[in-house]
Amino acid sequence: MKIGCPTEIKPQEFRVGLTPNAAREAVSHGHEVIVQAGAGRGAGFEDADYVEAGAAIIDTAEEIFATADMIVKVKEPQAVERKMLREGQLLFTYLHLAPDPDQTRDLLASGCTAIAYETVTDPRGGLPLLAPMSEVAGRLAPQVGAWTLQKANGGRGVLMGGVPGVAPARVMVIGGGVVGTHAARIAAGMGADVTVLDRSLPRLRYLDDVFGGTFKTMYASAGNTIELARQADMVIGAVLIPGAAAPKLISRAQLSEMKPGAALVDVAIDQGGCFETSKATTHQDPVYEVDGIMHYCVANMPGAVARTSTIALGNATMPFMLDLADKGWKQACQDDPHLLDGLNVHAGKLTYFAVGKALGIDV
Ligand code: NAD
Repeated sequence: MKIGCPTEIKPQEFRVGLTPNAAREAVSHGHEVIVQAGAGRGAGFEDADYVEAGAAIIDTAEEIFATADMIVKVKEPQAVERKMLREGQLLFTYLHLAPDPDQTRDLLASGCTAIAYETVTDPRGGLPLLAPMSEVAGRLAPQVGAWTLQKANGGRGVLMGGVPGVAPARVMVIGGGVVGTHAARIAAGMGADVTVLDRSLPRLRYLDDVFGGTFKTMYASAGNTIELARQADMVIGAVLIPGAAAPKLISRAQLSEMKPGAALVDVAIDQGGCFETSKATTHQDPVYEVDGIMHYCVANMPGAVARTSTIALGNATMPFMLDLADKGWKQACQDDPHLLDGLNVHAGKLTYFAVGKALGIDV
């Protein structure tokens, strides 16, 4: 199979769909790999790295879309890319079609087969191609929160780990899933006093079994949430209700009960945010203040560490990409129901129920 990897063109996207390592594996499986010139540069991979791995460098995205059997990307295809998709071509990337009727219409019109990273599942009911980005965002959250807490950045002027004789920062993490667990581990590693809240008792039991002593756990009742928020230097929002907007867990009125200069890091902003006062920000201008409380609400946090994110995503996508290339999408999806869960569009038809429901299109 001919596998093509164009340069990402969505603004502020520095990741790339194929790492040189993934290209090398595909070549060793007997596939031809073509990569657009400069595609890996944002993630620290040079064209020479791909050539060394056995791939060919191609000047333009047009040539890649015109000849590749499978396109491997990171972000959903932009309008100009969607025009280049062909009937029968396989697209393997993040799509997030439910809130995006324009993209859905174009993918249906193209006749391509599109497998979305975000709906591929694993045997335990997890989302293996979303998890690496949650791990990255979770580990990044205390790092950006610590920066936000610095005085010059509008924060309270509190050091995460304190020093001998001075108490550490108090960090509250709401949601103890993938993001929350990684955030809590890193915040605790920085020396902060960390408590994780969740609504799932089995999850809290698991966290207590594995991390008891590293951080505390608490049930996420409304009362516990506001009590801890009053004491917190930093609150990390990491909740997810699958398929729904994030619940608002701290209201604007409650900000006045918090310590002035405290930092809210709303990782759940890509689902609308879990604080009433959250609105999406960018890496260029990540932080704003409401009622004396600093808010960090960047919707694509992994983009800040494009190299780590690219390699983490590549590790997770590679086995699926190789399966698709080796067997063709039909056989690969027949053999693996979890990969089949990723199928969103085929030959002009929507094949993912939740997307059809959201957009009012028959599946
Ligand atoms: P997850 O499903 O692994 O964990 C979510 C947790 O939230 C679960 O343990 C669940 O029990 C808990 N929860 C749900 N409702 C709650 C409530 N009312 N109070 C307390 N806990 C509650 O999800 P995840 O992978 O950790 O993702 C968390 C959020 O981070 C999602 O919204 C995801 O889209 C987002 N995310 C954002 C970025 C970014 O760049 N901003 C990157 C990755 C993930």
